[in-house]
Amino acid sequence: MRAIEPGRCGECWDACPRLSAGEPFDFACAGCGDCCRQRRDLVLSGFDLYRIARRLRLSPRIVAAAFCKSYIAPESCLPALRLTPDPKTGNCRFFEGSACAIHAARPLACALYPLGQSIDTETAAVEYYVQTPLCGARTGEARTLRDYLNDAAVTERAGIDARWAVVCTRLSQRLQAAGGQENPHFTAAARRIERALYYEYSLGDEFYPQFCQNIEILQPLLDRML
Ligand code: SF4
Ligand code: SF4
Repeated sequence: MRAIEPGRCGECWDACPRLSAGEPFDFACAGCGDCCRQRRDLVLSGFDLYRIARRLRLSPRIVAAAFCKSYIAPESCLPALRLTPDPKTGNCRFFEGSACAIHAARPLACALYPLGQSIDTETAAVEYYVQTPLCGARTGEARTLRDYLNDAAVTERAGIDARWAVVCTRLSQRLQAAGGQENPHFTAAARRIERALYYEYSLGDEFYPQFCQNIEILQPLLDRML
């Protein structure tokens, strides 16, 4: 199974050309800011929320309450968080003066853009997709996708993002096997999962060990609830 997000055009990334790490990709962002305007599709992982919370020096729960909408994703039955746009402009609320106010902590989807990513949830293998037509400019240099991912700090977080996709897929399968939203204990289970995925993190400690611990604690609780 693959975790694949829709691109900005609304089409599944699966329809876009794929690139391997060694292939040429001489994209340079032109700084037009179009990928920050009219954004309604920015779904956050727990690691995205943790990084933004650290950047803003606020707890993950406060950041979520201030900037996100919490919902149950219909396909996965999992609790999810989406950044809510500015109600007046429709733009991302971190888009200030034509720049990202949280650039170093921007979500994975923003760091990847104009790429999409899909993760094989059995093997954790990652594929990258190019949204076309390609925005920005060409550098004219012999750069590869690997160079781009390194510069965008995507490579250094790739292991956490892959693990997140695998864990979420397993939790989703578990919820759906228990009847999904029809299960009488679904709401309580979903709340508990949301805390483990998004909120129960100390910003003074690294994300990944806390994520692993949260998931370990979650399993017996779900066994009793579902
Ligand atoms: S988080 Fe930053 S990069 Fe992402 S859409 Fe908002 S302003 Fe743009
Ligand atoms: S990634 Fe593309 S759309 Fe976004 S600011 Fe750069 S050139 Fe513009």
